[in-house]
Amino acid sequence: MIAGKIRMPPRTSQHPLRRTKIVATVGPASAPLSMLDTLIGAGVNVFRLNFSHGTADTHRDTAEQIRHCAEQRGEHVAILADLQGPKIRIGCFRDGPIMLTAGQPFTLDTALSDDAGDTEQVGVSYPPLPSDCEPGDILLLNDGLLELEVNTINRTRVECTVRVGGELSDHKGVNRKGGGLSARALTEKDLADIITAADMEVDFLALSFPRDAEDVNEARRRYQEAGGKGDIIAKIERAEAVADDDTLDAIINASDGVMVARGDLAVEIGDAELVGVQKHIIRRARALNRFVITATQMMESMIHSPQPTRAEVSDVANAVLDGTDAVMLSAETAVGDFPKETVQAMDRIILGAERTWQERRADRPINDNADNIDEVIAMAAMQAANRLSNVAAIIAMTETGNTPRLMSRLRSGMPIYAFTPYPSSQRRVAILRGVYAMPFDSHALASDTVNRKAVSMLEDMGVVQTGDRILITKGNYADAHGGTNTLKIVEVGSNIQ
Ligand code: PGA
Ligand code: MN
Repeated sequence: MIAGKIRMPPRTSQHPLRRTKIVATVGPASAPLSMLDTLIGAGVNVFRLNFSHGTADTHRDTAEQIRHCAEQRGEHVAILADLQGPKIRIGCFRDGPIMLTAGQPFTLDTALSDDAGDTEQVGVSYPPLPSDCEPGDILLLNDGLLELEVNTINRTRVECTVRVGGELSDHKGVNRKGGGLSARALTEKDLADIITAADMEVDFLALSFPRDAEDVNEARRRYQEAGGKGDIIAKIERAEAVADDDTLDAIINASDGVMVARGDLAVEIGDAELVGVQKHIIRRARALNRFVITATQMMESMIHSPQPTRAEVSDVANAVLDGTDAVMLSAETAVGDFPKETVQAMDRIILGAERTWQERRADRPINDNADNIDEVIAMAAMQAANRLSNVAAIIAMTETGNTPRLMSRLRSGMPIYAFTPYPSSQRRVAILRGVYAMPFDSHALASDTVNRKAVSMLEDMGVVQTGDRILITKGNYADAHGGTNTLKIVEVGSNIQ
């Protein structure tokens, strides 16, 4: 069943009426300038630079090229720097990849040199591993494809039996089932990369493997000391982070947004738990006024195929129905054979999911206890939009993008246009569901013409027309941070002031 009330305006190159946003990871398959441009054209809203790979210089170059392409197209495309974090990895094998078979012994040895791996043992870059493990633990290699059971700990050696075998090659990741591995979230490399990211003026900084809110606070402190101004995203990918509601809520509250980092999370908590946990994280993030990205293996088969599987179509669509702000592509765009086709398929699937009635139905206010003016105004605007007939758009005059973020926590079919003079705020809202940036400098206009001018911009774009109602929020002083205190309802074609 498709709700008839909401008109679909013509789509422009950036598909303004797709509500759920697309994050695409840059890698060799997408780094050429022409491919970045193609991907922006296909609908990418945010590019992820993965600091697990590449150098500071290559990331700087890529960021420059993304900004160049976006500017040429007049699009607001944001950049997300994703820190590597304390991912534990095995070393290298002397004679190339090995085959492990179930039942055979295999040892991880923190004292073995990095390149001395063979069919019986391999080095591991994490000295505390032997003290973090005990007999009976299950260690997962290569995103859970291989399983080892710990038998004995012998000083630096963690001696195991292979439970699930397969091919094992250099530098594959190690997780422990149930979590509990790896120390503080920020490595020396991360600390250096935080400074690089601040210097590059990225829009989002993603923190890998935070255990708790303190890890997020520490990253924010370091980032701000380095002059960073972007939003902080906590990647939820450790069993500890979702072990209890208080820990998860505290991590969400400490960050500006979170990522359901399903690759590592599923390995730690088990794939059967993942679906429920994904829905829970999305619900909590929205309830706590934070944005949320759903990531990893969404379109995995498209690394080598021009078409997604039915299961992948369902996965993307269900994340949309869960209420995610954005869906993320990793290897599909970084090293895949079909980066453009993958983004196009994702765009098409999202739009399909957003056409369903479940998606357009307004929901209850998530935070019934809001007790500050901008949040109450934002909620009032969304409730009015969902109740009144003929509302075609919401205009939020915003400095930081805060008010549109609050608005987009409440489900609605209504587009939220973030009118802001600041390019950094225009990019910050790129990740928010249902929010679209409009460059607009209200300071340069006489105050009684601001609303009329804003509405006429939407008319010119063809997204509203005579008779439509528009909700406008703003503060008394257009340049005051966090000062939204006014909600006005106007009608297109009437004398708007
Ligand atoms: P990664 O994070 O791609 O950096 O590992 C995402 C995930 O774990 O899902
Ligand atoms: Mn991860």
